[in-house]
Amino acid sequence: MTLAEVLAQDSQRLRQAPGLDLRTARLEVQILLCHALGVARSWLISHDRDALTGPAAQAYAALLTRRLAGEPIAYIVGSREFFGLEFKATPAVLIPRPETELLVELALARIPENQPCRVLDLGTGSGAIAISIAKNRPLATVTAVDQSLEALAVARENALRLDALNVRFLHSDWFGALGEEKFALIVTNPPYIETADKHLQHGDVRFEPLSALASGADGLDDIRRIAAVAPIHLEAGGWLLFEHGYDQGERCREMLRQRGFLKVETIRDLAGLERVSMGLGARKPG
Ligand code: GLN
Repeated sequence: MTLAEVLAQDSQRLRQAPGLDLRTARLEVQILLCHALGVARSWLISHDRDALTGPAAQAYAALLTRRLAGEPIAYIVGSREFFGLEFKATPAVLIPRPETELLVELALARIPENQPCRVLDLGTGSGAIAISIAKNRPLATVTAVDQSLEALAVARENALRLDALNVRFLHSDWFGALGEEKFALIVTNPPYIETADKHLQHGDVRFEPLSALASGADGLDDIRRIAAVAPIHLEAGGWLLFEHGYDQGERCREMLRQRGFLKVETIRDLAGLERVSMGLGARKPG
């Protein structure tokens, strides 16, 4: 079969997978073909009359089988683009998501370009947030923590590959290993899905670490904990910014106000959904 025929046939097959439209299915088949052939997408498009044969055909068939079984494309090819950078992604870490780029943008807007600044990323996973911030603010020092050693290994590898020298990685359950350290900015994309949410049984999330997704009956266990302890670790005038579910904005704002945060607000993502809440740490945590 030619590459064009493979693309036409297999994008129809992949489209049967829940949640995949034809455009996404075509894109994913192209990504798998590129991975198997070791070529760029532009090559694929200009060589679509070539036949798919030999070891590349076998490699591609194996990749497609995994995708048809539901495994996320990012784990199959081993990487995902985030904030213009290529991050290694394994099942030890949550796959970086486009909506999380909003958190990075909001963080960057609060970090000076021309002076040092201490930033903390809680539950760094692949390191996508911490490394994106570090690359865009070379004078900042980013501390990235995770309770998973496997995740930290992936994050460290990403920092090395992307040449992010101003990130420090630490094994820590939220603030656990941070002692008295204070930061000008604390960012986090914590788990926030309700443990019983049926969404956890479908699509990519089935393959991702549950510890990065689910957080108690209302999904807010970890955010509550973070909001309670963050004031102790914020410098005067420091910000806490975190991602949450589309229907958790009001509860998150309330929680921040109760913990004494000022200038509490929620920002919507590109889909118009409440996605990131933030507050300015007050001097005396209550
Ligand atoms: N936004 C992700 C999802 O709904 C969840 C990420 C998270 O819990 N931090 O799949």
